[in-house]
Amino acid sequence: MENDKLKIVVLGAGYASLSFLKSLSHEMLKKAQIKLITNNPYHYFSVLLHEVAVGNMDKNATVELKKALPKEVELVVDTVTEIKQNEVITKNSSFGFDKLIVGLGFNSEFFNIKGADTNSLTCGNYKEALAIKERIASLLTTKTSKGEKVDIAICGGGFSGVELVSSLAQKVCEDKKLPKDSVNIYCIEAMPDIIAAFPKELINVAKKRLDELGVILKTDHKILEIKQDSITCDYKGSEVSIKTDLAIWLVGVKGNAVIGNSPILESARNRVAVTKTLNAPRFNHIFIVGDCSFVKDDNDKPLPPTAQLAIQQGKYLAREFTNIIEGKSLNEFKFISKGMICSLGEDFAIGVGADPKKLYIGKGPMLLKRNIIEAYWRYKVGGMSRLLKG
Ligand SMILES: Cc1cc2nc3c(=O)[nH]c(=O)nc-3n(C[C@H](O)[C@H](O)[C@H](O)COP(=O)(O)OP(=O)(O)OC[C@H]3O[C@@H](n4cnc5c(N)ncnc54)[C@H](O)[C@@H]3O)c2cc1C
Repeated sequence: MENDKLKIVVLGAGYASLSFLKSLSHEMLKKAQIKLITNNPYHYFSVLLHEVAVGNMDKNATVELKKALPKEVELVVDTVTEIKQNEVITKNSSFGFDKLIVGLGFNSEFFNIKGADTNSLTCGNYKEALAIKERIASLLTTKTSKGEKVDIAICGGGFSGVELVSSLAQKVCEDKKLPKDSVNIYCIEAMPDIIAAFPKELINVAKKRLDELGVILKTDHKILEIKQDSITCDYKGSEVSIKTDLAIWLVGVKGNAVIGNSPILESARNRVAVTKTLNAPRFNHIFIVGDCSFVKDDNDKPLPPTAQLAIQQGKYLAREFTNIIEGKSLNEFKFISKGMICSLGEDFAIGVGADPKKLYIGKGPMLLKRNIIEAYWRYKVGGMSRLLKG
């Protein structure tokens, strides 16, 4: 009987995939043979990687998949290397499917900038965030004990760069063991302003906050090269050099490299422009969700890749599950923005509401992010026990 069931393979255990799997009822789950293939035995909260990188959080930014997954879902821990029309190739095996859901998330985008991939650390997954944490800790102990200054540069003043630089600066400010003024923290951004997706009023609040936290903001600095001990930038036509012990690359993201390595999938920057039902063009049995998908809103404006979008896409596929397994036509996916909140340290945030005219500043949006949005996801993925552990 089990062999007669439709084979559904889900790739990656991020927001999109888990939102799909955790939204299916046990009755629905029994109707198909579902396999989740992912490269780690745990789910990590990508939206909290900056907290892991600065040492505010570690294991509690992860959930063990064996505990989180419905018992009907088979977990395969393996690395996907290529997607074919009816088969997924992994490092150790290959898996056939009737329906495929691709939720492999993002990779860092280096834009061919010299030295960016070799001389910087990236914050794209849990292991990378832990590596940043260890590197910062080792730099702070070895250099400051000799009375030397530490220079750390966060490359990129977008959403994740600003979240990371704020958390890092606050952590350093509050570390009583560190000699005063022993750490320079830079935020380097090519554009005239940071977090361009936010309204000017909130950008100004963010800049003031970064200044209070001691961040040295370098806007209009286009990075030309990252060397082991410095970053070369173009600043309004002149070349300038910023000394660094550590460069952290948060300049941009693209879809997972597996997409680009799969000739059947047409993509730009490893993101597939999906149909209104989230299918890869030409393939009604392959769905692409989360950061590997490229989606536009009703006004034809590209939607930024966010956990919010990934979660809604996963829920949509769960709602359409019966149509999917019965081969019926699907309703269209519609994204409903619930606004966005950018943390600026542990106790301060800025936010734009679902109604973009509503702006939020201070502790309120931070409490909302922590206690409602993050707590909702902890509960959804890990249940009550995970929620209580925090
Ligand atoms: C520091 C930071 C802060 C952020 N803050 C926010 C925020 O506040 N709000 C927001 O909405 N978004 C935020 N984002 C963006 C958000 O994290 C992503 O949009 C979201 O994680 C995308 O979800 P996903 O399901 O596509 O992939 P992910 O959640 O990234 O999951 C990808 C999954 O695929 C697995 N995987 C990857 N490669 C392979 C492979 N080859 N084989 C097998 N498995 C693989 C990974 O292990 C992982 O389980 C932030 C991102 C960062 C980096």
